[in-house]
Amino acid sequence: MYILLFIFGLAIGSFINVVALRYREGKSIFADIYGRSHCPHCGKTLRWYELMPLVSFVIQGGRCRSCHERISWQYPIVELIAGLILVLVPYRLMSFYHGIYSPYLPIFIWVIAFLTLLLIAAIDFRKRIIPDSLTIFIASLGVAMFFIHASLGDFGLSNGLIGGTFLGSYALILFWGSSLLVNTLLGLAFGLVFVGLVYILSRGRGIGFGDVKLAAATGLLMGWPDIALALILAFIIGGIIGGLLMLLRHKSGQDSVPFGPFIAAGITLVFFLGYDILNAYFYLFKL
Ligand SMILES: [Zn+2]
Repeated sequence: MYILLFIFGLAIGSFINVVALRYREGKSIFADIYGRSHCPHCGKTLRWYELMPLVSFVIQGGRCRSCHERISWQYPIVELIAGLILVLVPYRLMSFYHGIYSPYLPIFIWVIAFLTLLLIAAIDFRKRIIPDSLTIFIASLGVAMFFIHASLGDFGLSNGLIGGTFLGSYALILFWGSSLLVNTLLGLAFGLVFVGLVYILSRGRGIGFGDVKLAAATGLLMGWPDIALALILAFIIGGIIGGLLMLLRHKSGQDSVPFGPFIAAGITLVFFLGYDILNAYFYLFKL
């Protein structure tokens, strides 16, 4: 079952690559996805055996069969991540909702959310832009999650799982409110205000307004206090990688680094390891 999901995920990753690569600002996300794939260097149309996700890249040694130019690492990386999303997200949620709820709807929503975040990260990485349509889509998934959790009542108060938070009992000391509505709206507000302040203080040089909107949308999806940890981790990872890139390239701080992929990374960390990260943190500092 998980092997089939992984292969299906690779195919979706391949599709995400095409959508991300052909996206043009101001156009609909799916405006240019038709037409055969071709090598961006020599223009040769790719045959079916050159289009197998991951496999073709490995067999061809990461090069085009015609002109032997290097193929971007983005292709196999995005394919692999999409495959992992299809396997690991259901696996995680099966144990998260264990004994409380059959989590097929949350699994569906979170898989779609992570695939959308992957597409956002891929587009932001190349084009330095986060399409509004994708941000709005993430926000609507957040609204759907709210209604799913609302229909369950206070489902998670047993088993150490609390109201859809991935932080377990640590959510309680982070001013977690017992109202699902308050937590959801607080998540939205935190994303907007926290990343909005960074945007204003950096005068839009460090991050863009697209990042502010994405932070608010993902805040709606994750809720408070999960989104707080996710965005703090995003800034920590972004700061470390941005700093390393500056050292390696000997460039000034004006060289922009896309922030969308780091928001996605922060959310991924909290989704899979939120409780463990806080556990390690409080253990390290003997709190
Ligand atoms: Zn070529």
